Amino acid sequence: MFDDRSRKYHNQYVPLKPVDVDLYKPFVGAEFLDDLKFLAEPLEKKVWANVNSTFIGGGVAEMLQGVVPFARGLGIEARWFVIEGSEEFFTVTKKFHNLLQGVDQDITLREIFHAYLDTIDENTRDVKVVGHMVTIHDPQPAAIIMNGNVYGHIFWRCHIDTSAASRRIWRFLLPYINQFEGAIFSSSEFIRENVQVPTYEISPSIDPLRTKNKHRTRKEALKVLGKLFDESNIDPDRPIIAAVSRYDIHKNQKAIISAFKLLKKNLPKGTAPVLVMVGNSASDDPEGMMVYKEIKKAADGEKDIHLFLNVENNDEIIGSLLAIAECFVHVSTKEGFGLVVSEAMWQGTPVVGSKVGGIKMQVVNGHNGFVVEPYAIEDMARAMKSILEDEQLKHTLSKNAMQTVRQHYLLPHMVYKHLLLMRYCMEIDNKVPPFRVNKLTYSEITEALYGRTVWPFSTDDLKKRLETIWEGLEK
Ligand code: UDP
Repeated sequence: MFDDRSRKYHNQYVPLKPVDVDLYKPFVGAEFLDDLKFLAEPLEKKVWANVNSTFIGGGVAEMLQGVVPFARGLGIEARWFVIEGSEEFFTVTKKFHNLLQGVDQDITLREIFHAYLDTIDENTRDVKVVGHMVTIHDPQPAAIIMNGNVYGHIFWRCHIDTSAASRRIWRFLLPYINQFEGAIFSSSEFIRENVQVPTYEISPSIDPLRTKNKHRTRKEALKVLGKLFDESNIDPDRPIIAAVSRYDIHKNQKAIISAFKLLKKNLPKGTAPVLVMVGNSASDDPEGMMVYKEIKKAADGEKDIHLFLNVENNDEIIGSLLAIAECFVHVSTKEGFGLVVSEAMWQGTPVVGSKVGGIKMQVVNGHNGFVVEPYAIEDMARAMKSILEDEQLKHTLSKNAMQTVRQHYLLPHMVYKHLLLMRYCMEIDNKVPPFRVNKLTYSEITEALYGRTVWPFSTDDLKKRLETIWEGLEK
């Protein structure tokens, strides 16, 4: 397991120095920051450890890169651990991810035993994770709860839209989830049956101080994009439609291409939009390249569609592209949150999003963007068209989009909730945090926390038991 002291990860530097939290005053106001400082006072030097599976790529890494320095700026000792795994491990955890998002996949017991459980065992063999509060992000590291090498008040943080999770994988994960002190979901809609521990709803957030999210003038943004646009013959004076995400089946990038082709057919002569699609592949995602090739094929022959993979100077490019785009399209079939939606809205770019998971939390139809069904190509094209054609509408959506993010989805809002949770679990506060979802009685919680007999502890025991019941589990 790597931790943040390793600093250099896959040859990239992850800066985690404390930030001066007063720099956030222009975004959330002095009063909110004072509240945060008040909450953080008794947490000074207390450890908040986070564990996930990559320092770089994808929304969780993106968020932790902001959370850790911010919490450190408040005096909390925030730590970040990253589990190490082989390609086989990430192949199987990607299957978990897909199954949790409702896509059927074949998964064998061998993969679970050898690639998943054994890797988790190896990761915690020599490293102990200790924190006053420990947050374990997503399914990749979830099983480390079983090994007895993680200490403190330990929460599982699920960033995935699990509302349609396959029963088989949900039942596999449940015994782990039910060992935690609580489970945090981005939306209460994602909580499936039989979670026996307290559940909480906390929205993800973006960091307004990150390079990607800083506000730029059009001139500044075009300067950043100059080289990329020149090389690809993109005329910046034409209306730009932007799409940014990992290359992943759930991101539904093919639908964006179809909608763009339809849009072009329905526009008056002389309006000539360009689709700029930027994507990457996280180091814990073995499917990225395959999806990229498929999207490339779908876009082939269309000179107004420009596809990019792992752009250099990523954060400047993404921020600048979102700033100059007329419209941002993000029509995932499943989406735990979709940080990139908030990123676009923060740049004042209206979003055409899909009516799923975290996207519909952020985008209110007709107020700060439009939402459509993920495969409703005609509706997508119509929404893009109305934004391109109506300057006044675009202006109103843009203003409201920025306001939505300013009120709900900035880093300090998210850290605020975590401080309340940390104070609650450390018994600094008795009041149940207002974002608690299930209303278990005190005795039910005690039972869940101390009378946990749902599963044997050692991996060997677990394997024996699983072997007997796996085949009987319904898909
Ligand atoms: N992202 C990026 N470069 C890319 C594609 C995506 O920096 O080429 C970023 C994007 O700006 C966002 C994050 O990756 O900050 C993706 O987070 P999101 O929650 O949208 O989706 P996830 O990848 O976690 O499913």
